[in-house]
Amino acid sequence: MIKLLILVSLISFKAHAKLQVITTTTNLASLAKYIAGDHVEVKSLCLGVQDPHFLEAKPSYIFKLSKADLLISVGAGLEVGWLPLIIQGSRNPKIREGQMRHLVASDFVELLEARPVDISRSQGDVHPEGNPHFMLAPSQSIKVGKAIMDRLVLIDVKNQSTYENNFLTFKNQILEKAKLWKHIKDKKIKVVSYHKTLSYFYEEFGIQNVDVLEPKPGIPPSASHIIGLIHRMKKENVKKIIVENYFDETVAKRIQREIPGIIIEIVPVAVEGSKSVDDLFDLYNYLIKKIGA
Ligand SMILES: [Zn+2]
Repeated sequence: MIKLLILVSLISFKAHAKLQVITTTTNLASLAKYIAGDHVEVKSLCLGVQDPHFLEAKPSYIFKLSKADLLISVGAGLEVGWLPLIIQGSRNPKIREGQMRHLVASDFVELLEARPVDISRSQGDVHPEGNPHFMLAPSQSIKVGKAIMDRLVLIDVKNQSTYENNFLTFKNQILEKAKLWKHIKDKKIKVVSYHKTLSYFYEEFGIQNVDVLEPKPGIPPSASHIIGLIHRMKKENVKKIIVENYFDETVAKRIQREIPGIIIEIVPVAVEGSKSVDDLFDLYNYLIKKIGA
């Protein structure tokens, strides 16, 4: 029994010896794991099968943040409905927004679909500051990866060379893979999506997102919007509807009945959003295969 207690306390000491990094999404967690390697313990608050816009703030998140040495969030309004509450509850002042130990990834990315905030928010739009789903584009993950590397070096300089080497390895792997992925650009693929989750992916790979099932990000599809959408899909000869796997596919199926031959692809948009998607490379490969086929 005593031996067991010693073992347990040794294990817990070891766990505490590592830097604790909490990310809001699994995509950021996967990236942080590449850059941090074994020096850091990384956990995500949102699961890969959950919509990160509408996470329920749980007491367990507050506990995780109370022990965090670094918080990495997406920003651009993605977590506005739940993250401020749990930061406040954690009583961990060093991870408040604006602090060095809270990295906001959107600060390092040029956002797509940016519009005047007051107008878009008042209309119920959940992308009031621009599109926050930039981690779906491999090239954007390099920018965020560099920001994570720089921040880790600031708070843990003794492992600087590890973080720098890990980032370079990650970047080179993405650039290598990009050579294999780029062929889908020539296909001139047209799709309709549920939410604007894949805007950065589409831009990177020359895919035309003709329209979205939601009339505005975060607003459920209405009957009149769907009628207009069906007309547009026929006119533009769209063959594929992409539905993020945490959204309802009922509307897509209704459209499928109206336009024979249309394919519906239900896709994960986050690491661990599907059984075979364990890291960012799996995710990008999966999306290329399903959307680019
Ligand atoms: Zn969104």
